[in-house]
Amino acid sequence: MPAVAALSPEVLARYQPVIGLEVHVQLLTKTKAFCGCINEYGGEPNTHVCPTCLGLPGALPVLNKQAVEFAVLAAKAIGCEIREASVFSRKNYFYPDSPKGYQISQFDKPIAENGVIVVPDAEGQPKRIGVTRLHMEEDAGKSLHDGFADSASRTYIDLNRCGTPLVEIVSEPDLRTPDEAFEYLTRLKEILLYTGVSDCNMEEGSLRCDANVSVMLKTDTQYGTKAEVKNVNSFRYIRAALEYEIERQIGVLEDGGRVVQESRLWNNAEGRTFSMRSKEQAHDYRYFPEPDLPPLVVGTEWQRQILADMPELPEAKRARLVEAYAISAQDAATLAADRDFADRFEIAAKRAKSPRRVASILLSEITMRLRVGGLQFGQSPVTLDGIVLAADLTEAGEISSKQLKQLLDTCFAEGHDFAHVYSRDKPQQITDSYTIEMMIDEVIAANPKQVEQYRGGKKTVSAFFVGQVMKLSKGQANPALLNELVVKKLDAAV
Ligand code: ADP
Ligand code: ZN
Ligand code: MG
Repeated sequence: MPAVAALSPEVLARYQPVIGLEVHVQLLTKTKAFCGCINEYGGEPNTHVCPTCLGLPGALPVLNKQAVEFAVLAAKAIGCEIREASVFSRKNYFYPDSPKGYQISQFDKPIAENGVIVVPDAEGQPKRIGVTRLHMEEDAGKSLHDGFADSASRTYIDLNRCGTPLVEIVSEPDLRTPDEAFEYLTRLKEILLYTGVSDCNMEEGSLRCDANVSVMLKTDTQYGTKAEVKNVNSFRYIRAALEYEIERQIGVLEDGGRVVQESRLWNNAEGRTFSMRSKEQAHDYRYFPEPDLPPLVVGTEWQRQILADMPELPEAKRARLVEAYAISAQDAATLAADRDFADRFEIAAKRAKSPRRVASILLSEITMRLRVGGLQFGQSPVTLDGIVLAADLTEAGEISSKQLKQLLDTCFAEGHDFAHVYSRDKPQQITDSYTIEMMIDEVIAANPKQVEQYRGGKKTVSAFFVGQVMKLSKGQANPALLNELVVKKLDAAV
C-alpha cells in the first residue's frame, strides 16, 4: 500500500479500530417512492420523470405502498422494531441532481430501529452488531461527468433515478475490524436478497455503502474522530479502504497529529483514500416534517400481512440444513448464500440416499464445471435428477469418484444429463475380488514404509492404499469392495 509510512505491528496493536456502516439500498418496487414513474435502472436519460419527481411547484408526493411493505419486511428481517407512526422529513441541501432542493427522508421518527446482524468474529464466534435504524428515503438523480464529447467542460444530469425508493440501514459503531465489516455487508446483502426487497446490485448502485471509521488507543475509553469513506462499489474494496484508512489514521496520531472529521473517497487504482470534503461537526440540513405527507401508520394488522411474506432467513436456513441433512456448517453456508441454490439442494437431498453426497457433488463437481463453462445453474446439463442418480451410484460404490468425474465431464462436454451418459457409457467396474487383491498386493509390496505406519497403529494410512489401488485400476475398482479388501490385506500383513 502506497502513501502510508510502514507502521510496526507493535504500534498497530496499540490501537482499536471502530467501524460503523451506513448502507443505502434501492427497493425493487414497480414505481418510484412518491410518484407513478417506473422504477427501473437505465433508460434514456430523463425519460422516467414526472412533475413530482422533478420537483415542479405544486406537484404532490403520494407514498408508494409497496415501498413501505418492503421497508417493513427488510427491517423485520434484521430484527428491528417497527414504529407505528413514522414521520417523513425534508432534508434540505442543494445538489444539482436533486431538483427539489431537499430530499424526503426520515429523521427523528424512522420507520424501524434497534435491529441486529450477527457476524462471525475473528475466532468464528457469532457477534451481534447493532442496527441503529432503518429509515425510508428517496434517491437523487445522477450527474454524468464522463462519456460525452464535451465532458471536459460540462456535466450532464439524468433524473431517472430521482425519487427511487431507498432504505438506509445504519449500524452502531460495533464493528472492530475490516473483516467484520465485510461479513456484516455480506450477511446484510444475503438477508436483503432473501426477502426480495432489492437486487443489491452494486455495479448499478442498488446497494451503496458509506463506511465510518475511527481509531483509538486500546487504553482509551472514548471513540476517536471518524472519517467517512463514501461510495465504494464492492465489499472487497470497502475492506481494503478500511484497512488503508485505519493505518492512515494511526499514522496521523503517531505523528502527533489529529484525525479530522471528513468524507473521503477510495481510489482503487492507487489503493488509497483521499479527502473529499471536510464535514462540519453539525451539518445543517434544517430537517422539518414533510408538510405534504401525513405520518406513516403501519398498524399491527398491516404488519401481520407483510410478515406473511417473510421467507426463512439465511441464519435459520444454515442451522436447519446442518441439522436436517447432516452436512458441514461450511457446506450449509455455501448453499444458503443463495436461496435458489439451497432450494435446489434440498429437492435433490430429499430424494437421494445420502444428502452429504449430494452436497459434495453439487458444491464441488457441479459448481466447478459450471464455473469453468461460465454457466448458471439453470443452464447445467446435469439436472437435479441427474445429481441424485450420481450421488446414489457413488454412495453405493457402483461408480468410483474418478468415474463420477469422467461421467460428469462427458455430460458437460456433450450437454447431456447424467442418466443419459451413465446408461450409455456405463463404466467398467472390477468387482472380482481376486483381481483387486492382486493389485493390493502389488501396492503393498511397493510401499513398505506405509505398511510400517499402518502396523504402528496409523489406521488412516489405509486410505493411501485405497487411492493407490484405485489409480492402478484406472478408477475401475469397485470402491466398497476395494475398501474392504485393503483393510483385510493390511490387517493380515500385520
Ligand atoms: P453523523 O452525525 O456524522 O452522521 P452518526 O452518529 O449519525 O454520525 O453515525 C453515522 C455512522 O457512523 C453510524 O454508522 C455510526 O455507527 C458510525 N460512527 C459514529 N461514531 C463513530 C466513531 N467514532 N467511529 C466509527 N464509526 C462511528
Ligand atoms: Zn415521477
Ligand atoms: Mg447521521
